Amino acid sequence: MDHPYLCSRRTLLAMAGGALLAARLRPVRAAQRAPRLSVPDFPIPQGGCFLAVVEGDGIAGVTVWFAGRPYTAVADGGGWLAVIGVGQRAGLTEQHRPGGYDVVAALTLEGGGTRTLSGGVRIDPAGFPVEAIWLDAATSALLDPALVEQEIAVLREVLAGLTPRRLWDGFFHRPADGPLTDVFGSRRSYNGGPATGSHSGVDFGVEMGAPVRAAAAGQVAFAGPLPVRGNAIYLDHGAGLFTGYCHLSRIAVTPGQQVRAGEGIGAAGSSGLATGPHLHWEVAAAGYHVNGLGWLLPA
Ligand SMILES: [Zn+2]
Repeated sequence: MDHPYLCSRRTLLAMAGGALLAARLRPVRAAQRAPRLSVPDFPIPQGGCFLAVVEGDGIAGVTVWFAGRPYTAVADGGGWLAVIGVGQRAGLTEQHRPGGYDVVAALTLEGGGTRTLSGGVRIDPAGFPVEAIWLDAATSALLDPALVEQEIAVLREVLAGLTPRRLWDGFFHRPADGPLTDVFGSRRSYNGGPATGSHSGVDFGVEMGAPVRAAAAGQVAFAGPLPVRGNAIYLDHGAGLFTGYCHLSRIAVTPGQQVRAGEGIGAAGSSGLATGPHLHWEVAAAGYHVNGLGWLLPA
């Protein structure tokens, strides 16, 4: 029987060929289950993400530690789930260097005891292309560090949210119909300067006004103008997972609104720092921008 939790994990397993890996599936037994931590047994690239899953009986709460940072796990289908993003740059978040990392789950047990479970993951290096982008004077003004900082402060707050349940289910829907026109993590040189920028999402080439759809079920966490990303929507999918939709010409949702997977939420445009109409689409896990293509069904 497909329990929602197992269904989600099985679906995530299917993404293992991409950027994402889930824990191994294990049958749920009726007998008392000793607590167990599952983490990926194959490498995760920089800019990817993974699930740490704790199963077992008698658990009241779980905090997962990775690279010196705590991640609050959420109860899901009889287990506990933490979504962990692997940083790919300095800036909004640090870059996790390639290598082996400990993953430690600190459990609070029903009745008040504690227990610690340990595992490990390997982070692999990822290559990111460098792109030269030339902007006119008006658009270049949006590169003002004060504007960029103002935007980062907003994003930090939005993406730090943690709704303590999983709202998404399985693979994400493609948020726009156009072709992929830029990849995640490309290092960007503006107007001949050093490649200090980093592409925080993937781009879909679409016409002005083309429909933009929610990649998964969730709640609107932010909807409004940003200096660089233009008119933007961020959806909270629970457990620290978010998607962002930027440079829109129209926003059709309001903060707090619930949306279904595939539901229309706005229209594409070129607001903010854009050289033409396109959808800039982001996925963030616990505040880390990650490669959203790992969450889409292969084309
Ligand atoms: Zn973009």
